[in-house]
Amino acid sequence: MSDPSHVNALIAGAGPIGLACAISARRRGIDHLVVDAGAIVNSIVRYPVGMTFFTTPERLEIGGHPFTCGGAKATREEALKYYRGVVRAEQLRVRTYTRLVGVERQDGRVACRLATAFGSDTVTCDRLIIATGYFEHANLLGVPGETLPHVSHWFDEAHLTSGRDVVIVGGKNSAVEAALQCYRAGAGVTLVYRGEALKPSVKFWLKPDLDNRIAAGEIAARFGSEVVAITERHVTIRDGHGTVEHVPAARVYALTGYHPDFDLLAAAGVSCDAPTGRPVLDPATLQSNVPGVYLAGSVGAGRNISEVFIENGRFDGERIFGDASSRAQAERRYGESPRPVGE
Ligand SMILES: Cc1cc2nc3c(=O)[nH]c(=O)nc-3n(C[C@H](O)[C@H](O)[C@H](O)COP(=O)(O)OP(=O)(O)OC[C@H]3O[C@@H](n4cnc5c(N)ncnc54)[C@H](O)[C@@H]3O)c2cc1C
Repeated sequence: MSDPSHVNALIAGAGPIGLACAISARRRGIDHLVVDAGAIVNSIVRYPVGMTFFTTPERLEIGGHPFTCGGAKATREEALKYYRGVVRAEQLRVRTYTRLVGVERQDGRVACRLATAFGSDTVTCDRLIIATGYFEHANLLGVPGETLPHVSHWFDEAHLTSGRDVVIVGGKNSAVEAALQCYRAGAGVTLVYRGEALKPSVKFWLKPDLDNRIAAGEIAARFGSEVVAITERHVTIRDGHGTVEHVPAARVYALTGYHPDFDLLAAAGVSCDAPTGRPVLDPATLQSNVPGVYLAGSVGAGRNISEVFIENGRFDGERIFGDASSRAQAERRYGESPRPVGE
């Protein structure tokens, strides 16, 4: 009789790439279990409401399941529907709200400690695939007041800011997009960024829009300025000359990027390059320095989170579970996608 607390492949993370890995395993008759700390595709759940993907839908497809959507590009809501449909169609085994919290070696197997709302559990596996992304771990500002309830590191919905003063911290796509949306929803927006100008990677259609709003005095911008503290009513900023300003804010979005869960990787024994945070992986199979532990999807790019995204990470399961020919095919498909696009 098979051991119910053992699977061949345990996949941590039911993001698009974790699900694609599960499909690659299942189609080869390899028993699998996917666990996710949240819902299926929890990172997409946390995207702003109504967000449209930059990538065309066919490049978000996994397992060859067609992704049809109403417009030229898919929305957040269409993507949620699509990925849960794939889980159903492929009959993937997914345990949601189950977090991988520890990894140990047990009699030559990988023992995974899982935490749920009802307690903890251990499942052993021959192969652990860590596909936990980066979107849970925000790069913190490290200032007093950052944990106040009106401060968020994830942009949720512009409508919520209507008629309110909002400070948005950051200078990349997410911050620029949030600033424009909040302004259009009727918020009084101040964008605070420590750089002297927006990042060149900001989407080419967003930059002139923001520049025009700033020139017209519709959005306030403080470039070359750092946040030093947040209170219930203000964000205190300081510019390069040391001038301090208290900007009113009923809502603060600190959109300063994200990083993989380095503590989890360290607990699993996975070595990462110190400056970049890039895990040491065999490029052909994505196996880490720990035998039986693999990394798939955006977690594998370390701090450079705009390097691996859905469209170029979705074949990682073929590298892990495939043979030389499917690996070579995955390699070719991987090369199809221009990068970087996601953020
Ligand atoms: C606003 C926004 C727009 C984007 N637009 C695009 C786009 O147009 N095209 C594109 O290709 N990419 C886009 N991206 C990037 C894309 O979302 C990521 O590259 C993609 O989600 C990575 O997939 P993944 O499966 O590797 O990780 P994720 O999708 O982040 O999935 C990781 C999963 O792991 C779970 N998890 C985390 N820790 C644990 C744990 N310890 N135990 C169990 N589960 C855990 C999380 O809950 C999550 O469900 C965008 C990102 C953002 C934020």
